[in-house]
Amino acid sequence: MINGEMTITRPLRWGMVGGGRTGQVGYKHRSGALRDGTYRLVCGAFDLDEARGRDFGVNLGVAAERCYADVQALIQGEAGRADGVEVVSVATPNFTHYEITKALLQAGIHVICEKPLFFSVTECEEIAALARDKGLIVGVTYGFTGHPLVHQMAAMVKKGLLGDIRLVDMAYTHGFNAGDDTGAGEAVKWRTNPRTAGPTFVLGDIGTHLYYLSEVVLPQLKVERLLCDRKAFIPTRAPLEDHATVLMHYDNGARGRLWVSSVDAGNMGSQRYRFVGTKASVSWSDAHPDQLHYEVQGEPGRVLHHGMPYLEEESLAADRMGALHTEGLGDSWANIYLWIAQAIDARQRGDEAFLASHHYPDIQAGLEGVRWLENCVRSADAGAAWVDFR
Ligand code: NAD
Repeated sequence: MINGEMTITRPLRWGMVGGGRTGQVGYKHRSGALRDGTYRLVCGAFDLDEARGRDFGVNLGVAAERCYADVQALIQGEAGRADGVEVVSVATPNFTHYEITKALLQAGIHVICEKPLFFSVTECEEIAALARDKGLIVGVTYGFTGHPLVHQMAAMVKKGLLGDIRLVDMAYTHGFNAGDDTGAGEAVKWRTNPRTAGPTFVLGDIGTHLYYLSEVVLPQLKVERLLCDRKAFIPTRAPLEDHATVLMHYDNGARGRLWVSSVDAGNMGSQRYRFVGTKASVSWSDAHPDQLHYEVQGEPGRVLHHGMPYLEEESLAADRMGALHTEGLGDSWANIYLWIAQAIDARQRGDEAFLASHHYPDIQAGLEGVRWLENCVRSADAGAAWVDFR
């Protein structure tokens, strides 16, 4: 159980690029990072608008002179300080991730970057090599995978409680873009433009969360082939998609079905997962993250609750609130940030043995998400054809 006790040598000096006053995701980063005292927010280039970014940073308790105009000013300003920043989170639109991450790593700063990580696998490989050469950690904020019951599902699969996996069924859908984009805000504008979003809209924006969570639960399964059908129901979003379905063949013979949509009018259900094995199934949704449905063939269904002693130790280790008391998205992000802090701390201590067995969403996880997107686009562009995964 996580209780806020310091599990690393000392708090990390942390900064942010993006995530400013108008940013959608910035608070999730701060809520995750600042929960356990493992990070101390010391600087930022929070906003494209320098004055607004400085005003915002000061309101967060950051010294005015450490609220910078942009990432380059941050790197220069922090380089001269004995107490300079050690790790920076990147919470900016997709098209900026690669350049900002590269600049930070070149300056010797660990990075925590938003998904989808970059535009191409080639970029991911280049940055992974740079991080390796510099001995730096890159974490990726797949913020939903800190929920304790996600790790319960992984542990149950590992223990064989489901039997051999046959079906993987996942959906992340909402209706927030069901109408056209007239008068849309910045966050919609950059997401629907290939120059700023990258090769995908909903596949990258929400589909990568599904794909990564399935990798956490089923690390032994690899996709061999996939078929992706994507469509822009609002034509101005083309060539990007606001809806996609993906079929997947796994190397053990299992079949996968994934649906992402931002035009699923009226749906506030968010994410749904069902993993079906030869003996039993588990179903989980982030709408009710405290509950896991466990159905054994021929027996009445069971609902498992977070924090209960009957759960696997991997799940209990990620629990914060204890049974009876609701855990939510903030707790999940706090776990992700904690696990990344532990990785940075281990690297700073030179504890490679710890790192070898420590699990957190790392640059490889970010790369695999981008690889999946590249395969989806290749399939969709070939007219929703089956393609070998590569
Ligand atoms: P947004 O448009 O709402 O906010 C972007 C913020 O970054 C704004 O504060 C803007 O001023 C600032 N900014 C833009 N360019 C900048 C630059 N070059 N330097 C400094 N600041 C800059 O975007 P958002 O919805 O918060 O998304 C940001 C990123 O987070 C995207 O990559 C998105 O995919 C990701 N995201 C992830 C999750 C998640 O659950 N992990 C949720 C939402 C968004």
